[in-house]
Amino acid sequence: MNPLTAIPSSLDIKKIRDQFPVLHQRVNGKPLIYFDNAATNQKPKQVINALVEYYQGYNANIHRGIHTLAEQATKAYETTRHSMQKFVNAEHVEEIIFTRGVTESINLVASSYGRVFLKENDEVIISGLEHHSNIVPWQMACEEKKAKLKIIPITESGEINLDVYQNQLSARTKIVSINHASNSLGTINPIKKIIKLAHEVGAVVLIDGAQAAAHLKIDVQAFGCDFYCISSHKMYGPTGAGILYGKKELLEKMPPYMGGGEMIKDVTFEKTTYNDLPYKFEAGTPNIADVVALNEAVNFINELGKDQIAEYENELLAYATKQLSAIPSVKLIGTAKEKVAVQSFIIEGIHHFDMGQMLDTRGIAVRTGHHCTQPLMERLGLEGTVRASFSVYNTKEEIDELIESIKRIINFLK
Ligand code: PMP
Repeated sequence: MNPLTAIPSSLDIKKIRDQFPVLHQRVNGKPLIYFDNAATNQKPKQVINALVEYYQGYNANIHRGIHTLAEQATKAYETTRHSMQKFVNAEHVEEIIFTRGVTESINLVASSYGRVFLKENDEVIISGLEHHSNIVPWQMACEEKKAKLKIIPITESGEINLDVYQNQLSARTKIVSINHASNSLGTINPIKKIIKLAHEVGAVVLIDGAQAAAHLKIDVQAFGCDFYCISSHKMYGPTGAGILYGKKELLEKMPPYMGGGEMIKDVTFEKTTYNDLPYKFEAGTPNIADVVALNEAVNFINELGKDQIAEYENELLAYATKQLSAIPSVKLIGTAKEKVAVQSFIIEGIHHFDMGQMLDTRGIAVRTGHHCTQPLMERLGLEGTVRASFSVYNTKEEIDELIESIKRIINFLK
């Protein structure tokens, strides 16, 4: 067998693909090849079925109902909280707050923690690799509090410059907010080191885990981070759900983010007392169905095993990177040593949008543009890239098809 097309025997990719109905269709007359997994990945049947079962079987509002359906829905919703506690290895279940996803989780911390703990002339540090979701909420908080936003520069290969970071840290640093893995370049950041250095100056650390949740082992206690954010839709779960993990002692000191039902203990027109964790941060009717189905996404990942998923995706990445770099007019963007299965590239003389559109006519879905990281693109002197991002259901044959198509498009547009 050609070693380049060998796959780890532990994963049966055909069987995995069979669990993803969306993959079995033709797009523009060609079999769909889905390489836009960093934007959102596809959903296995067990997640889709969980949504249908919830709406067909026990749709009800949670927590306050005493009837059977309400109890069933509450139990399912809280089961996911326990699963997510295990998924990130949080010490306490009430450290898991359900949100709409990473964007809302970061906004919650920037707004609630920032409102109380950020003062004039304090500093917040983020990196040059961040998604707009991990830039704009901090800009807003800093503007309101007259605090300063500092940016850790990145190297040409797309890694954080740790020497500069170390010099940026001081007693004025109150918050450091960094992604675990970059959506544009795939870089896996050395978060343990980043967290340790931040804690030495007394800052709290938020980790944006959007691109890590489906690929890397998460252990918030081993990392030592204060906050960790996840979007369900990037880990085979439904859109519109996610979590904020926060250390209990910090969450307890933070004021509510939104007011309304569920987050209260007692309301009079004179004074409201707030609910205990985690409900203090879950105002209103939450996204019950999608949280319930997220549990099946966790089961899906656990059944395959994160190590096996990572091993297979790393093989796909190495296979794609090798072939892409052999095309003379292709330039790889993002060549960090440690990466998740994301490869950005540009093609000499061909606009990334044109390449994306031409690939789509061949049924291949890639992402093109700035990937919500405009400052990063500016740093790299680019308007955008073509980005192929791989998941456990992708195959080397699909990568062969991508490479062949890129070569043909280059020849055609020459
Ligand atoms: N951070 C990173 C690194 C991301 O890739 C994304 C999604 N592209 C986000 C934050 C925002 O996640 P969401 O849109 O699910 O809130």
